[in-house]
Amino acid sequence: MSWVFPPAPQPFLTVAGLTTHFPVRRIYCVGRNYADHAREMGHDPAAEPPFFFHKPASALVQSGSVLPYPPATNDLHYEAELVVALRGGGADLTPDQALDCVYGYAAGNDLTRRDLQAEAKAARRPWDMAKGFDHSAVIGALTPGTIPPDAQITTHLDGKLRQSARLSDMIWPVGALLSHLSRLVTLFPGDLVMSGTPAGVGPMLRGQTCVVQIGELDPAVITLSTE
Ligand code: MN
Repeated sequence: MSWVFPPAPQPFLTVAGLTTHFPVRRIYCVGRNYADHAREMGHDPAAEPPFFFHKPASALVQSGSVLPYPPATNDLHYEAELVVALRGGGADLTPDQALDCVYGYAAGNDLTRRDLQAEAKAARRPWDMAKGFDHSAVIGALTPGTIPPDAQITTHLDGKLRQSARLSDMIWPVGALLSHLSRLVTLFPGDLVMSGTPAGVGPMLRGQTCVVQIGELDPAVITLSTE
């Protein structure tokens, strides 16, 4: 087969301790999966099932990168999130079947243009331009296997603690999240799910460094350039 132009490079994550790489297919994200964050955004955490949105796989950024401040926003926010990476897939999975599809976990930062998200919410428009912009999915190296369900998730902005919670604070744990998602779309190897953020989200300014840590996982680190 010949192409009109060369196909885009395959997005990937590195795997801690291995020289093989994890090819990324799609990036799903979950809204309001920690009760205290749902409340800080003005919602009742008990009121609704999980809901999902996308980032394009091309939005993936390797941890340790330095990025320019994104265009079209004056209110870029960090969101610390556990990232679930799938090596299997399927539709209509039970939570146990879904957990069998998991390859491993990573720390992630669901960068958000909060001002555009607020405009989209007010106008009842899609969130894509608030969530799926270039360089919006910062993800650290994958660690294969399981993660302790009560592992701590934190965000430090220029060394100052901004978010702190336990994974056990999630409203929908990983198996239930994946099960819900598998009733909406067929899941495939290479799919990632960013599983929601705890309370304490806030702005990230030019020149600042944001570090997301989850238990023993490799951190997800991003620095904004000063321009
Ligand atoms: Mn998020």
